[in-house]
Amino acid sequence: MRPFVLDPIFTSVRALKGIGPRTAKLIEKLLGSEKLVSLLWHLPVRYIDRRFAPKIVNAPNGRIVTLTVKIDKHLPAPSRTRPYRIRCSDDTGAVDLVYFHAKKPWLEAQFPIGATRLVSGEAEYFHGTLQMPHPEMVGTEAERDKIEIVEAVYPMTAGLTHRMMHKIISQTLPQVPELPEWLDAAFLAQEKWPGWKEAVLKAHHPESEEDLSSRKPERERLAYDELLANQLAITLVRNHNRRIGGRAMGPPGKMGDDLRAALPFQLTGAQERAIEEINADMQEPVRMLRLLQGDVGSGKTIVAFFAMLNAVASGAQAALMAPTEILAQQHSKTISEYAHALGLEAVVLTGRHKGKTRQEILDKIASGSAKIIIGTHALFQDDVIFHDLGLAVVDEQHRFGVHQRLKLAGKGKDCDILVMTATPIPRTLTLTAYGDMDFSRLDEKPAGRKPIDTRLVSSERLEEVVAGLKRKIETGARAYWICPLVEESEVMDLAAAEERWKTLQQVFGDRTGLLHGRMNAAEKDAVMQHFVAGEIDVLVSTTVIEVGVDVPEATVMVIEHAERFGLSQLHQLRGRVGRGEEESACILVYDPKIGETGKKRLTTIRSTEDGFLIAEEDLKLRGAGELLGTRQSGMPEFKLANLHDHARLVKIARDDAQLIIAQDPDLQTPRGQALRTLLYLFERDNAIQYLRSG
Ligand code: ADP
Ligand code: MG
Repeated sequence: MRPFVLDPIFTSVRALKGIGPRTAKLIEKLLGSEKLVSLLWHLPVRYIDRRFAPKIVNAPNGRIVTLTVKIDKHLPAPSRTRPYRIRCSDDTGAVDLVYFHAKKPWLEAQFPIGATRLVSGEAEYFHGTLQMPHPEMVGTEAERDKIEIVEAVYPMTAGLTHRMMHKIISQTLPQVPELPEWLDAAFLAQEKWPGWKEAVLKAHHPESEEDLSSRKPERERLAYDELLANQLAITLVRNHNRRIGGRAMGPPGKMGDDLRAALPFQLTGAQERAIEEINADMQEPVRMLRLLQGDVGSGKTIVAFFAMLNAVASGAQAALMAPTEILAQQHSKTISEYAHALGLEAVVLTGRHKGKTRQEILDKIASGSAKIIIGTHALFQDDVIFHDLGLAVVDEQHRFGVHQRLKLAGKGKDCDILVMTATPIPRTLTLTAYGDMDFSRLDEKPAGRKPIDTRLVSSERLEEVVAGLKRKIETGARAYWICPLVEESEVMDLAAAEERWKTLQQVFGDRTGLLHGRMNAAEKDAVMQHFVAGEIDVLVSTTVIEVGVDVPEATVMVIEHAERFGLSQLHQLRGRVGRGEEESACILVYDPKIGETGKKRLTTIRSTEDGFLIAEEDLKLRGAGELLGTRQSGMPEFKLANLHDHARLVKIARDDAQLIIAQDPDLQTPRGQALRTLLYLFERDNAIQYLRSG
């Protein structure tokens, strides 16, 4: 159970004075939660210093100042388009408070003639007169302490105002409890970090530019706490998996040899190594939890199939789960061919299988007559019962949440898990996102792959792109045309793609296909089939095409509004071409209004095909959540830690967590108890179930 001491910050913002359901909704939208604790992690990005209180004559143009003034005169707006002015002064000069569209009675009440007022806002000279348009804070002498302050400025969402945010934060911070210290005292001293409560309060009260830096002790401390919670949770899960044991499966023996003989190519050294690592793992009576990481086109599917053979050789079943219908179909096609060569049957189960067909597939899975099962999310529905699932392979992991991976594994007894991802994950990220796993890496591409000619073209030259594409198509090429990503709007994605499809049809006729996420499975299949068969030359698509699709004959990739994509995403998209014998090209069409950094990002893509380099760059520019997919990915989204700025801390946190668990595996010591609180604080408490004593 969550320690009571955390209760005050685990209540909703609704409990605060003056905060209703509407504001709570906005907070939830902004932070993903309406609990007060999430506000603690929401740190200021700027600050406004209202302590600067010069005399009028010394107020600099364009700066925020707090002036103490006497109200001299009201000058009501002479017309609708001109402002209401309130003339004020001190012993050095005069200033006009300027209000557009304000109500006269309200202004008269706020600013009685002869009274003294403190006004805080931006002062500026206009035609030689100092004025302050719409002061942000107004008060009496008695309220000086509430006005001459440094105000933190927070990241916002539409509908939420700076004032509202302050109302919330100023009520939240007093709720911050004193918590027992969970960091090692010597380490804390060495880093010169404050205690947790002090760190939170300080981080919310920046008084200089430097205070906003992620390297400030208080911010580092909070980031470290978050990383430590993450590493502790991962270590607990990992230890748990080790303890419960698994089953020994494989080796595939003759089936493995037959498969090698049947392959139309030679496995790369990296593939051989990965297969060996996986075999060794699966033969141990321990649960395998292994990540197979390999850039697009590095040949992960065949490695997965070898792994599946280990299970099959031992009489168990193996399932492969793909994130999309298209991919499941594609995997089933490749794997069925290999399986056939070995006299095995592979079945597919996806959302499009209904009624009787579905029941037949379910029966095969339940009776164990199907040894190799390929599918989508449909595989972990409740009525899918495996006879004996020994291995679950999860493709393109970042599309699935951790819990989904566990759910599939839960369908077998002591089931081994192999996770595959094409996202090259920088080391700091492997520790935080996949720290519970072992690793195999395909760092070598199959021989004969040609470099992809990547070009940047301004969208002003779109006609030339189309003309160039036409020439290519006439020589027999096939092309993907990816349409702009419109943030958070599938409908708009679709509209953009449909429009482009229509214009391209005018050039390429009916050999132009359209693929998008709103199509049903059968429709998508049909379009893909046409493209694979060469009946479609140009496939216009939204990003549904992004992961894993393999059509070696496609040699041109056009990406519109390339600047809206993440670098890793562009790299993935580009990886759809350059898979065959022919030279391939990738054309990144960008908006000419793109900024300097935007241009620089695209240049990175042009200059390298090294997925790791691109991922590092992406991590630097966009952060981990973006790199691994979206929030829904279930990957840890760090609120305080920034894997670029705090890379140093990631490794320390990992070592710290391992040491802690080695010395106090069930978090029983006083420090262990404090660390439990830390896990609750960062909502990683589901790891607590893995402690032997609860
Ligand atoms: P990814 O790692 O992107 O999932 P795939 O498994 O889809 O890659 O493989 C990409 C293509 O490379 C497939 O057409 C596959 O048949 C082929 N391939 C895999 N391994 C090799 C190899 N060792 N030599 C040549 N081609 C290979
Ligand atoms: Mg793949």
